[in-house]
Amino acid sequence: MAGEPQADCLFCKIVAGEVPATVVRETETTFAFRDINPQAPTHVLVIPRAHYPDAVALAVAEPAVAADVLTVAGQIAEEEKVAGTGYRIVFNTGAGAGQTVFHAHAHVLAGRGLAWPPG
Ligand code: AMP
Ligand code: ZN
Repeated sequence: MAGEPQADCLFCKIVAGEVPATVVRETETTFAFRDINPQAPTHVLVIPRAHYPDAVALAVAEPAVAADVLTVAGQIAEEEKVAGTGYRIVFNTGAGAGQTVFHAHAHVLAGRGLAWPPG
């Protein structure tokens, strides 16, 4: 069924506590933790607890939870004291765009100069 945990999904395992993570924030619908290979001083991943392969699939199936992911991204930016200086929310979507984990996730990146356009 859509949204159900997937046995072979790393981020479902993190939500379930089967794989350790540095948790930043938990809500009823979302889970946020530090990226294991940070690309900026602040690099937090915000994911829905439910499994969807990417952010668009999440938005189509559960738009309120997609909004929750963005709301939590903003709360993390506030907590990390980067909301004022600026931060980037990235949803890599598809292998060609660099997506490697096929459980929807927002990258929250900040704390250094962020070039535009991104690479
Ligand atoms: P993406 O390439 O957009 O799919 O992003 C996946 C992200 O997950 C990468 O930035 C990885 O560094 C990160 N990642 C992979 N394994 C872990 C883990 N066990 N804990 C935290 N972050 C992870
Ligand atoms: Zn998953």
